[in-house]
Order: sequence, then structure tokens, then C-alpha cells
Amino acid sequence: MAQIEFLGTGTSTGVPQPLCTCEVCRSTDPRDKRLRCSSLLKFDNTNILIDCSPDFRQQAMRANIDHIDALLLTHGHADHMGGIDDLRPYCTYNPLPIYAEERVIDDVKRRLPYCFMQNPYPGIPRLDTYPIVANQPFEVGNITITPLRVMHFNLPIVAFRINNMAYVTDCLTMPQETIAQLQGLDLLVINALRHTEHISHQTLSDALALIERLAPQRAYLIHMSHDMGLHAKVSQQLPPHVQFAYDGLKLDF
Ligand SMILES: [Zn+2]
Ligand SMILES: [Zn+2]
Ligand SMILES: [Zn+2]
Repeated sequence: MAQIEFLGTGTSTGVPQPLCTCEVCRSTDPRDKRLRCSSLLKFDNTNILIDCSPDFRQQAMRANIDHIDALLLTHGHADHMGGIDDLRPYCTYNPLPIYAEERVIDDVKRRLPYCFMQNPYPGIPRLDTYPIVANQPFEVGNITITPLRVMHFNLPIVAFRINNMAYVTDCLTMPQETIAQLQGLDLLVINALRHTEHISHQTLSDALALIERLAPQRAYLIHMSHDMGLHAKVSQQLPPHVQFAYDGLKLDF
């Protein structure tokens, strides 16, 4: 028995977007307030964080996260790792393991060089890095996680499959091999930015077409921009097994 809690479901600017006065940014519906993308996976005694957004501190307090056993990074963009320094309270006693592709570990080291110095200043986040490779499953505790290749325009990044759940963010396209590995899911979490095309993200219709190919039992959309429209209104356009996720939503899988 496991649970995913959506800590943030917005695109890189978040929703509302600063300076914008559109109806979504002015909405009072809490489902239209989207922090940057991150999720917490809860297993019996194991908490796994997927990505660590610049809103992590606020997300951790809202979700009452009492410990984190591992951080999985999909890629090195700021909206997915900008909150790593705020992990400090979670690595006071033990270093926090970060699982990411080698290139993304380099991004972490470039962004937070002070965490990786020989004699670091006291109080810095204590991080251990573990390189992962697409298609090579790894374990956190007794949980097996399979990283899968997806393409974020021309940047190769990873999605994660755990049991019959998969978490795919910032995907524009995915190779045939990944499509084959994402069959038979109970729960698919996948990105959909807006209605009109974008150079590096799927549109809503791209996401719906891909969901049809992958045929999960149910799918939840993440990484939305304000251009997607009001949650209450645009939700009505979705097929019954697809929904927009929203911040704070918890699902069992
Ligand atoms: Zn992103
Ligand atoms: Zn707006
Ligand atoms: Zn990105």
C-alpha cells in the first residue's frame, strides 16, 4: 500500500503567475493555486520525494513531512531542484540520498557547490549522491524504482515507474521502449502544460493521446500553466479516467 501526495502541480512560474491578472491567476479556487512540481511517495516507513521545487519549504510544512528517505530527481531544471538547500532540517542526523542521472548530479554540484566541499561550513545540507541510469532499476529500502527515458525537447530526462504507478514530468516525447514499459499501469501521473504548442512540454491533447496509447486505469495531469484554464471548467473536457491533479491531492496506488 502506497500513497502519492502532490506537493506542487504547476509549471515553472507557478500559478498564479506574478504580474498576471488572467481569470486563473485571480481565481479563488484552491485547485487553481499551483506550486512548482514535486510529489511525495509514502510507503510503510519510507518517504520518497520526487523533485525538490523552489516551493519545497512551504510544501513540506503543508504536507507535514516528518522525514525523507530519498530524493529522486527527474532533471536539473530550477523548478525541479531549486529547493534542495531547504532540505536541511531533513538531513540533520543523516545525509539525504539523492538519486539522479550523472549529468543531473553535476547540476546539483554546480548549483550547491558549498555542499560538496572538503571541509564544508557547518549547517549545510548533507547530501549523498547516487547516480542512476535509465532502464536500470534501483532500490530505496525495499522499494524498486525504474528510471525510464523521456525527452524534454532535446534534453534526455527520466520518468520513474514504481510498481504500477509511473511519474512522468516535463516530457515532450518518449521513445518506443519507454512506451512499452509504461503499459499496464494503475496510475499514470503525466505532464500537460496548456492547450497550445510549446517547444519542450506536451499540450493537453498530446497528453491525452499518449494516455490513450499507454492505457492506464487512471491518469492525473501535472505541470500545468495558467493557460490551461480554470480547474473547474477545463476538467469537464477530460475523459472520465483522466483528471487534473491539484496541490495537496493524495492518491493510493
Ligand atoms: Zn518543469
Ligand atoms: Zn494568469
Ligand atoms: Zn524542465
